[in-house]
This record gives sequence, C-alpha cells and structure tokens, in this order.
Amino acid sequence: MTLPAPRELAALLDGELRGTPPEQPLRAVAIDSRRVLPGDLFVALGGRHCDGHDFVAQAEGAGASLVVLRRDRCPDSGPGPGCAHLLVADPLLALQRLAAWYRRTHIRRVVAVTGSNGKTVVKTALTALLAGRFRVASSPGSWNSQVGVPLAVLTAPPGTELGVFEAGISAPGEMERLEAILQPDHGVLVNVGLANLGSFGSRAVTAREKLRLFQGMDAHSWVIAPDDPLVNALPLPCRRIHPGAGPPRLLGQRSRGNGLLLQLDLGGCQAQVTVHTRSRPLVDDLLIALTAAHHLGVPAAEMAEVLQDYTFGPTRMETWRTPEGITIINDTASDDPLSVQTALATVAAFPEGGRRLFVFGGMGDLGPCEQREHALIGRMAAEQGFSGLLLLPHPARSHTAAAWNGCHPAQAAQELADTAALRERIRQMAEPGDTVLLKGAARQELSSAARAIWESMAPRRLLVDLDAIRDNITRFRALCGPEVAILAVLKAWAYGTELPRLAAALQDSGIDWIGVSAADEGAVIRRAGVHRPVLVMLMDPDEVDKAVRWRVTPLIYSLPFAQALVRTLQSMGAHLEVHLEIETGMGRLGVAPEEALAAARLLRDSGVVTVTGVMTHLAGADDPAADDETRAQLERFDAVMARLHQELGTPLLVHAAATSGAVRFPQSRYGMVRLGLGLFGLHPSPAVAEAIELELAVAFISRLVQVREYGRGQRIGYNGTYVVSAERQRIGIVAAGYNDGVPWRFSNRGEVMIQGRRLAVLGRVSMDSMAVDLDPLPEATVGDEVLIFGAYEGQVLRPEQAALQAGTIPYDLLVQVDGRRVQRIFRGG
Ligand SMILES: *Cc1c(COP(=O)(O)O)cnc(C)c1O
Repeated sequence: MTLPAPRELAALLDGELRGTPPEQPLRAVAIDSRRVLPGDLFVALGGRHCDGHDFVAQAEGAGASLVVLRRDRCPDSGPGPGCAHLLVADPLLALQRLAAWYRRTHIRRVVAVTGSNGKTVVKTALTALLAGRFRVASSPGSWNSQVGVPLAVLTAPPGTELGVFEAGISAPGEMERLEAILQPDHGVLVNVGLANLGSFGSRAVTAREKLRLFQGMDAHSWVIAPDDPLVNALPLPCRRIHPGAGPPRLLGQRSRGNGLLLQLDLGGCQAQVTVHTRSRPLVDDLLIALTAAHHLGVPAAEMAEVLQDYTFGPTRMETWRTPEGITIINDTASDDPLSVQTALATVAAFPEGGRRLFVFGGMGDLGPCEQREHALIGRMAAEQGFSGLLLLPHPARSHTAAAWNGCHPAQAAQELADTAALRERIRQMAEPGDTVLLKGAARQELSSAARAIWESMAPRRLLVDLDAIRDNITRFRALCGPEVAILAVLKAWAYGTELPRLAAALQDSGIDWIGVSAADEGAVIRRAGVHRPVLVMLMDPDEVDKAVRWRVTPLIYSLPFAQALVRTLQSMGAHLEVHLEIETGMGRLGVAPEEALAAARLLRDSGVVTVTGVMTHLAGADDPAADDETRAQLERFDAVMARLHQELGTPLLVHAAATSGAVRFPQSRYGMVRLGLGLFGLHPSPAVAEAIELELAVAFISRLVQVREYGRGQRIGYNGTYVVSAERQRIGIVAAGYNDGVPWRFSNRGEVMIQGRRLAVLGRVSMDSMAVDLDPLPEATVGDEVLIFGAYEGQVLRPEQAALQAGTIPYDLLVQVDGRRVQRIFRGG
C-alpha cells in the first residue's frame, strides 16, 4: 500500500492538519480501531451501530499515525503523541476521495461488477479466470457498499493490472459516488431484479441507477449486460455485449452426480467441464464471467483449465449433505425476488426423490410490491412441488403463508418465532432424502441457522475459527513489532484445513506473505484472488513455467535446483524473483554456507533471476535443551548473510524463524517470521507455550452414536484390550476412528470431552469409531457432541496434550484429520 504523505493527503481531502504526523509513510487504512496497526491511517466513520469518533483514543493507542475525523467531532485535547488529526467535513467522503486517488495512481484497469444478485459469484469466477494472465486484485468478500468499495480498492497492491470490484447500491444517487471511485474501464451488469424496490420505485429506475456505474466510459469500453428490454432501452456510452450472443456459449448441460456437466464453446475450442453446482442461475453467472474473461483476452484453453472442477464460494447454493442423506442448501447471499424464484425452480428440478422443504426469511425493501411479491413466492413454492414451507418473522410473511395455503399443499405453512425454533423444527421434520432450501432476508441469521442445522446433523467436523486466527496474528505482530513481516505457512493444505479459503481470509487480515510447498498450490490461491507475495518452499524444478505464470517466488534450496531454474528461465526468456535457503544445521534443505556465495553469484549473473530474500530454518528453536545449537545456527547464518549482503548489494528480506523461533529468539526475527502452527493457536512445545498465549482456533468434533451399560467382564473393542472391571459401566461409542484422524495410539490412553467433562478412551480405537467411559457423565446421551481436541463452546482439550497421549507431535495430529470424512467449517472472518 502506497498512500500519500499526510500533507499531500490534507490537500487531497481538503482537510486541516492538527499536530505533527510521524515521518514514516502511512502503512494502511483502517476503520476498525481494533484492527489498527502502528503507522496506520484511521478513518472515523459514523455507523448505525457504532461511531468511529468514539474510538479515536483507542486507534491512537494502537499506534495510528493519522486520524481522519469530522471537524465538529474533533477532541479538544488534540492528537496524542506520535499522531496527527486530519479534520474534514465528511470522513466517508474523504475515504472515498482517497480511494479514487488510489485507483488512478495504482490500478491500471478496472472491471466493475454490479447487479441485483450474483455480483460476488461473477467477481469470484472472473478473478479465477484472470489470475493466470494479470496481476489481479478483487473485492474481498462482498465489499460493495459506500464503505466497502473504497476499502476494497485500498486493499489492491500498487501495480495491480486489473481490479475486479463489485458495486452495490440500495438507493438512488449512490452509484455516482461508486463510479467516481472505481472509474471503470469495463463493466458487468449481472441482472436487474426487484431488490430495494422500496427505495428505487420501479425496476426501470433500478436499471437506470445501476447503469450510472458506466457513465464515464467511452467507445473503447464494453459492458456485459443482460438481454432485457428494460436495460436495452437505456443508453450506454460504450459497446454492449449480451452474454451467450457470441462465444463463450453454453451448448448444453446435464446433471452429473452432485454437479452439472457443461458443454461449452469457448471461442476457439469446445470444452466439457463439470461444475460443483446444480444451480442453473449459477451457471448463467459463470457464463457472464467467461464472457468478460474472453473480452479481456483470456485464451479458451486457459478458461477450460480454470473451469475443470470449478467450485463456487460459500453462501451461493452452498450444499451440504448429512450422512443420513438430508441435503441442506444455504442460498442466503441474495434475497432479491428474482434470486428467490430461481432458487425455488432450481431445487424443484433436482433429480432426487424425497421431499423439498423451503425455509423463507422474506425479502427486504420492496416498497409497494411487498405484498404481491411475497404472495408470489408462497404460490410458486407450492406450485413447484415443495412439501413444506417454514416462515421466519417478516412483516409480509402472512401473505406468503396465505398464498401457499391457498394452493392446498399437504401441510399448512408454519410460522416460526426465530431461528432456534426453526432448527428444532427441521430436526424433527427432515428425513433422509429430503432437501431443505434456506433463503431470504436476515441473511446472516439465516446463514448461521443453515450452518447450525447442518452441524447438528454432521457427525464429524473440523471447525476453524478465523477470528481466533486473526487474534493470533495480532498477538504475533505485537510480539515481533511492526517492522517484522509475517509469512503464513500454508503447506499441507493449510495444516489440514482448507488452503484457498484460509489464504483468502488471511490476506484480508493483512498477512504479508503466504508460503506453500508447490507452485500448483500457488496457482490455487492466486485463483482464489490472493495477490500477496507467495513463497514456494519446495518447488519441483519442472514447475518453473508455473512459477512464472502464477508470479510466485521459489525458494532455492540447492545448487542443482538453482542451475536447473536458471536454464529453464533462460530458455523461456522469463524472469523470477527468488529467495535463497542456507543450510545452517537443520540437515534438510538449503545450500551449504560455503556454497552460498557461489549460488548467489550464479543467480545474479544469470540475468534471469533476482535474489530478493535469504532464509534458513531452525531445527530446535522449540527446545531449551537445544538453545546453544539454535544460537550457533543463527551465528552461522549471520556470517553468511554479511557476505551475501556485500556480494548482492541489493535489499534482501531475511528470515529464519518459524513459530518457535519467533517466540523464543527475538534475534531470529530479522525482516520476517514464518508462522504455521502458531496461527492456529497451537504451541510447538511447552517452552513456547510458556512464552506466548495464543487463541486455539481449531476443534475436531464428533458425536455419540450409542450409549450402553455393560456388566463386569465385558471385553471392549478389538482384542478385548479393555475389560469392564466394575459391576456395571456406561460406555459410549463415538463416530470417529483412526480413518478420520483419531490417533490409533489413543487406544486405552486418549481422552475426549463431552459437556466439558474429560472422558477416557476405552479399548482400541477402531477404523471409524471408538469407545469412551461415560461413568463420569451419567447424563450423556446419543447425539451429544464429542470434542476430540481443540476449543469449542467454552470447552478446551489441548491438542498438544492429545498429541502427547498419542505419542506424536501437534503438527501430525492436526494434518491427520481426514479431509474427505471430516467436514471443514469456517467460523468468523
Ligand atoms: C513448516 C515450516 C514453517 C512453519 O513452522 P511452524 O512451526 O508451524 O510455525 C516455517 N518455515 C519452514 C521452512 C517450514 O517448513
């Protein structure tokens, strides 16, 4: 992020500077005082729920260099030490003007995406399609509002070739402001629905307002817009492209398993791809993204490659299936009537037998059309063959209910008090084979309800708490200081969690670098919209072309690898930045200290490589008994570094520490630390645990599937290694075994937790189940959740201790949790 200096900023924003701002450049922009880091620009925004002006002192305490605030809300005491105030008439307007400046200065071209629903789907797909061609940055999540758009623009790194940003409006007049920020070169109008009709008055006005996003374009620009008479009637200053009018075109589609097999003409080649959705509207959105990618010059073969096994992000027809065979569809991203109708039609067309249940939260802001549209949805659900309608509170829900009941379905509409009642009702009603669709306003609530329903039925899951991870990053930042960058090590599919999801979330939390093992993993996260620098720590020499294409930084870990890399780059005529690994005592990878100079020269003189970083890896930084060896490793590294600095003469990012080094050896932090285990709140060793407190961010959970009492002498599990010795003992069976990632060594020694109580594992762990002692917890019943390790709803079972019981290390415990059998669930973020 390269922001103007405070004085230029004052001129740019028509502000009045109070106090003397620090010399160093502003780091980043923050609007949440809890997320402020030293050197930040804090903008105090007045919100519905809280007002940034109340948190100015907090932002200053966290190290903000400059605070933008309203002239009439400026504290009499003036700015605190090391901070200045910039007084403006309207901080939101100031943020938007700063973003407009940033867009002009640092982003070459912008594609702006608007529409009533499907914006995020189109943006995400387009980002994936473009990532192999351009330096792309796109809006995180669905940041498309008056606050979201400027923040999204400000997250794009300088040098962005293509920004893909969403713009959403809910009232007339808003789009002009977004247009002034984005200054789009090209545009996409996904559709014009009925959302916010209360504010717009009619669909025609909605369409007109949305098209204002493109008013500054010229004849060289294009807008992809639906072939909708209402839109066609409105003028555009640029070329208008209807999706499907030319290639890319959909030639055919049919169901295949849980997805759709698409036959596509991509212009230049035909492709057959399977997408993991059965929603035709989502395929339409995908086609819009393909059309935009085509016009931006992405070749057909590259599009086909990205489409293979394409998955859509969360909350758009997100489909979960319970082991009993109940399907839950969470489609809460949009509550536009159009989107509700298409979701109903999509689910109705599913090939499965079984009943369809519709959970409806109503639709927001439809003005005079509210009653009619709500009745229409009730009638449509009945006509499409849904067998149950469950309604959450909404002012117009009686109209939906009346229309449904008027169509004589087998069961009258059920009006529920809240999502807790909903969960209970679904649990009673749903049977194997049923499909439950959740849709409507109160998205957040409905989306959590969908997840809770599914969680309550899923036997095994690994919860990943993104807020806890974010918290840990903040703690490491505080520990290491603002000058030390943080690289998140996401090898092993992000320590067994989910690589693209976690990488995107970490980028939004302001992590500086991401580390993976292979260039292919770099591709995965680039397609997920990650634009941060990526270090590939164990790249195959065959992957050089991928490294170039995906703009990742290989780690040079041997002389032969350096030679192979240089040869390939020279033959390709390509260039790469690399980091050099020095072996200082780990006995694993890296060039020996005596080879380091030769390696550096070879790379520098090749003309195809720039060495931008040098690193080593510590073997025993977690272990106090090895502290002498750790210090010796660092001395060897320092000696090599002194010569390398001299030899290369260019700035180098130096790094040595993983979690343990970062915590226990301040001298090993250099310019960056590489954190893996610590991000998840796990400690590599007791010595590390003593030195830093972290928030546990994972939980491995299963359920009790049987509770039974046995008499004395009963043998439990394979080979009868546990025998009941009491007269009677209550024993439960947990639906998780060594095939799911429970260590087999838990046999007769591990512990699990139910309702906060520790319970012993009895007998041998089976492939998919294990027995536990329920005598300490007489109230335990079938269906109870069982914590195998981690932190969950106030219960804590330390993974480090579980690892110890299993005779392994926490790293191994975490990555063994099976990716197919144990559903990953992300919370927070
Ligand atoms: C795995 C790894 C890390 C991260 O280690 P943690 O102990 O999980 O923080 C850092 N650097 C390298 C080279 C690694 O292989």
